[in-house]
Amino acid sequence: MIPVPFDYLRPSTVDEAVAALGEADEGKILAGGQSLLPVLKLRLAAPTLLVDLAAVPGLSGIRLDGDTLTGTTLVIGAMTTHAEVAASDLVRQHAPLLAAAAGTVGDRQVRHRGTLGGSLAHADPAADLPAVAAALDATYVVRGPAGSRTIGAADFAVDLFTTALGPDDVLVEVRLPSTAGWAVHYEKFHRTAQAWAIVGVAVAVRRDGGGIGAARVALTNMGPVPHRARAVEDALAGAAAAPDAVAEACSRVADGTSPADDLSGSAEYRRDLARVLTARAVCRALGV
Ligand code: FAD
Repeated sequence: MIPVPFDYLRPSTVDEAVAALGEADEGKILAGGQSLLPVLKLRLAAPTLLVDLAAVPGLSGIRLDGDTLTGTTLVIGAMTTHAEVAASDLVRQHAPLLAAAAGTVGDRQVRHRGTLGGSLAHADPAADLPAVAAALDATYVVRGPAGSRTIGAADFAVDLFTTALGPDDVLVEVRLPSTAGWAVHYEKFHRTAQAWAIVGVAVAVRRDGGGIGAARVALTNMGPVPHRARAVEDALAGAAAAPDAVAEACSRVADGTSPADDLSGSAEYRRDLARVLTARAVCRALGV
């Protein structure tokens, strides 16, 4: 439970962090440390340098961006903690699904140390926020040795614990098109209140009269990366806002997933959970 020795740097700019990562034999960014420190203690990673982002100004915070042409975008700094995300009035208004899910992460201590950027960069298949970011069509703003670039939600998650971030990249902020007014629910099935999701379902639906106008659905822990259930979204769009119609539209949500078969549940159990939980999440979002 003692990490391999490493150097420690606390830069004051993102560019300084990128340069230090480039020069190190094996550099790692330290954000809230909630995932990285256990990994180091178990010696699953042995970086030679930790680059702590805590003193870099401008990496945390929540603001609105955009104009009448592009629409409103919610911008969240990578170092913003889960607790700040969950409590933010701006997030509750413009990305209510993210606010709801952030409030379910771990326990109070984890939520006050862990960051949105750290969770997305770590890309644990059981983590709640990557599926939410996928459902909300997040765009990731990254700074690396060649400057700044953006990565779309569909390209960010690559594999188990692997994203499109390079070894010298810093995730700077996450941009989310506003979903103000959408009805949302994050359904998390876990053994105990503070545990990780065995399966999680992120749902946002826009009502259209008595029915569903549009839907976003993404699954947590149903494969190595978040699963965006596009076929279910299509089936929900235009469906009646009624439990039977919702259950029918969600019946094939597990198609195309590859859940783990482990001590927490078999793959078939998880597929069944996904079906039940997705219909439940949509009904809870709609209040039916
Ligand atoms: P760190 O641990 O500091 O870093 C994680 C990884 O991301 C490292 O590889 C690091 O180099 C990289 N990284 C961090 N920031 C950046 C950046 N800006 N740019 C590029 N790379 C970066 N999560 C859930 O989703 N649901 C849960 O229920 C849950 N329960 C938990 C329970 C416990 C007891 C603990 C300890 C953690 C739990 N977590 C859970 C994980 C938690 O959400 C972490 O906060 C998150 O996974 C990592 O965020 P962090 O800021 O602590 O990142």
